[in-house]
Amino acid sequence: MKLVLASNNAGKLAELQALFAPLGLALVRQGDLGIPEAEEPHRTFLENALAKARHAASLAAGAAIADDSGLCVDALGGAPGVRSARYAEDHGQAKGDATNNRVLLDKLSAFPEASQRSARFVCALVAVRSADDPQPLVAMGRWAGVIWPAPRGDAGFGYDPLLYIPELERTVAELSPADKNERSHRGLASREMLRQMREVWGLG
Ligand code: IMP
Repeated sequence: MKLVLASNNAGKLAELQALFAPLGLALVRQGDLGIPEAEEPHRTFLENALAKARHAASLAAGAAIADDSGLCVDALGGAPGVRSARYAEDHGQAKGDATNNRVLLDKLSAFPEASQRSARFVCALVAVRSADDPQPLVAMGRWAGVIWPAPRGDAGFGYDPLLYIPELERTVAELSPADKNERSHRGLASREMLRQMREVWGLG
């Protein structure tokens, strides 16, 4: 079965492709079908994921899945949150992972203690069989850690070099892709989504 991924983020595509391989689902990026990105005007990951999945399903006339995800830092009231990808731009800087990380470290300079730097990656996955599907499948995943004072590691994308996982004594960017998928917010949400696709959509 073909499932349109309502994202053009190469990092997410690679992670989701590995996670959905067991169901024999072929993920196709919406950009490869000429589908433009949807607006993401909402305040929660869940609402944005639903809007993105519906938009892609409508233009592709088929099933679609959307991931809306980001980093929530407790000391910042949950920021960058749904603005994670655009955090640097929101602060007048160029778009990009490195600038996002710099802005975040700057904001946290007033919170030097590890106990003040708790944060989590959050992932909302929503899948619909059509734009009008009255029962979207919804799966959430969370992964908690602490914001490290400087980037560490080269793997992954986004804020991976800054989220330190105390039990592993590593940042996410110091984990292999397989180790990240096994524990990550997206890995957790994907496994729950697979369970629902089997139960409700009758797949694999
Ligand atoms: P979205 O494409 O609007 O959902 O934005 C997601 C943004 O959240 C990405 O650009 C990253 O900055 C951040 N993000 C989401 N998932 C991860 C992850 O697994 N690692 C690091 N950063 C992530």
